[in-house]
Amino acid sequence: MVTAKNSVLTTEQWKAIRENDENFDDQFFYAVRTTKIFCRPSCKSRVPNFDNVTIFYNADEALAAGFRPCKRCESAGYRLPDEEWVLQAEAFIREHFIEHLTLNSIAEGCHGSPYHLHRVFKRINGITPIEFMQTIRMEKAISYLRKTDKPIHEICTLIGVPNAAHFATLFKKRTGQTPREFRKSDENEVLRHEI
Ligand SMILES: [Zn+2]
Repeated sequence: MVTAKNSVLTTEQWKAIRENDENFDDQFFYAVRTTKIFCRPSCKSRVPNFDNVTIFYNADEALAAGFRPCKRCESAGYRLPDEEWVLQAEAFIREHFIEHLTLNSIAEGCHGSPYHLHRVFKRINGITPIEFMQTIRMEKAISYLRKTDKPIHEICTLIGVPNAAHFATLFKKRTGQTPREFRKSDENEVLRHEI
């Protein structure tokens, strides 16, 4: 990530961000490390944690540094197409699936309303953001079960489903096997190939 052109946040800028002061909209953009989105000072999105903020003086610099434009304040200077917003949501879910995520927190992280995100995501992907998140989690679980010796109670925490019984239920629903059965049959499969 390019950081050379970032500058330190001033008290005045921080005040403008907290107060959604549109008088500063032409002066700077602020990017937030946790959501990887950059906004105009006037954006009505939740006030970020001070330590996560980086300042940019034009949108191109923020984009070049890997930040995503905001749907709400149109920080890239154009209306974000739905397809691009859905890609943002997918990226957000891939980056945060280990955390406790809800439709509300995903929408908050993607600067839009939960209802709107749910509808647009489903229209474009055929599944809801929560279903997409569960798919990512189960893919990760399969990978851990196959490639590591980590115990199942540890794997379920690593994929964001800390309750082992709940994890087993979700996993079985998707694969037809419990995590334990899956690991065992996968080991047998590998053995067969080795012989
Ligand atoms: Zn914004």
